[in-house]
Amino acid sequence: MFWRFFLFVVCQFAGGLIGWYLALPVPAGIGALVGMGLGGISWFLLDLYRAKQFLRWLRIGETSTVCVCNGLWGEASARVKRLVRSREQMTRDSQQQLKDFLAAFQASPNGVVLLDSQGQIEWFNQMAATHFGFDAQRDMRQQIGNLVRDPGFASYFSSHDYRRELIMRGRENTPARPVKLSVHLHPYGEGKQMLLTRDVTAMEQAEAMRRDFIANVSHEIRTPLTVLAGFVETLQTLPLDEQDRQRYLALMALQAERIQTLVSDLLTLSRLEGSPPPGDANWVCVPTLMCEIEQEGRALSAALSTSPDQLHTLEFESLLTVEIAGIRHELLSAMSNLVANAIRYTPPGGHISVRTLLMPDGRAKFSVSDTGLGIAPEHLPRLTERFYRVDPSRSRDTGGTGLGLAIVKHVAQRHGAELKIESTLGKGSVFSIIFPTSRLHPIPGAAHEGHLLSLNG
Ligand code: ADP
Repeated sequence: MFWRFFLFVVCQFAGGLIGWYLALPVPAGIGALVGMGLGGISWFLLDLYRAKQFLRWLRIGETSTVCVCNGLWGEASARVKRLVRSREQMTRDSQQQLKDFLAAFQASPNGVVLLDSQGQIEWFNQMAATHFGFDAQRDMRQQIGNLVRDPGFASYFSSHDYRRELIMRGRENTPARPVKLSVHLHPYGEGKQMLLTRDVTAMEQAEAMRRDFIANVSHEIRTPLTVLAGFVETLQTLPLDEQDRQRYLALMALQAERIQTLVSDLLTLSRLEGSPPPGDANWVCVPTLMCEIEQEGRALSAALSTSPDQLHTLEFESLLTVEIAGIRHELLSAMSNLVANAIRYTPPGGHISVRTLLMPDGRAKFSVSDTGLGIAPEHLPRLTERFYRVDPSRSRDTGGTGLGLAIVKHVAQRHGAELKIESTLGKGSVFSIIFPTSRLHPIPGAAHEGHLLSLNG
């Protein structure tokens, strides 16, 4: 401001001086006054010119076209320049922030759809596009209601009550492969909404399995309990002779044993699921294991057959002189389960063969083959499901819980092994557990040591 005033005074002073100097025909005072007036006008024109230049620069926005001098216009242009620069920086920062937000939404494992106050799509991420089948080119600014046609979604969207999420069928849902989506609307800003979507297929399946499991366990326990309660009532109300009493007590003991076996199998399963997989700290000798399995098998066969000529022909062949890295009682339980099943599902007089052998690729195979009932192909994929039985009454009559093969599968998986099931209805079955070479090593000093080592390379 000072400089502006200073320049004005200088212009007038200079004009006055020149007027006074040149005022020969008129008195010097009048010449000076005229000179001062002309000096003021020159100053005004110069100032106007600079103001115009400044305005032009503001309009065009080019700093290079203006000569930014000092004084008021110089300061004004410097300040405007600084302001513009800081605004540009702020815009760049905001754009970067927006980019980062959008990148974060893109990276989200959930689908995100942003809707304006009219319900039109403003933006969506790739996951939402997958969930709803949206196309970024085609579907921006479209009404969400026109694109998501599920009736459940339509009534959820129009209800304006978004406290809870909605579970709806996914776009790729088929009866064979159900896909479930959880969608939840969250209002924000002025009438805008954010739609979050999540694939909950696995969760829904797990929940359904949990419900089925509880229903199955309740059913399995209720049946023997009902029978037990009936016997107790009979013993309490009827005057029975000693022989009948003993008979009822024996039947009650059988039902109690069924419940015990079931609870024990359930505990085994939960232990298998809850404990870490076995490492290679413990090594289990396969020939010793086979001896125990043989003893148990022969005892079970004898217990199930009513006369000696109804015994199964049992054959045990142990060609594998190795140790397996794992947990002894788990391996014993899995292998004995397969032998017990072969005995239980093979009619009296049938043949059962239990083998351990080294496969050409160096893996070890434990296999149980029988000439029993066999299993129709449609049942094979479901055999290892808990409580799945091909013939429930035969399973229960022979003391089965429906959990045996589920346990075998778990044990095999924990030991890095594979459970293989081959069966022909009416002819028999072969159940095998195949152990990887990484879990085997030869028993020191055993006959097949060299063979195994050479196969292991
Ligand atoms: P369970 O206690 O009923 O035997 P498992 O899980 O051991 O339960 O077996 C599941 C079903 O698989 C059995 O109910 C039976 O129908 C069938 N199964 C298992 N092993 C054999 C076999 N060796 N021969 C024929 N069917 C078998």
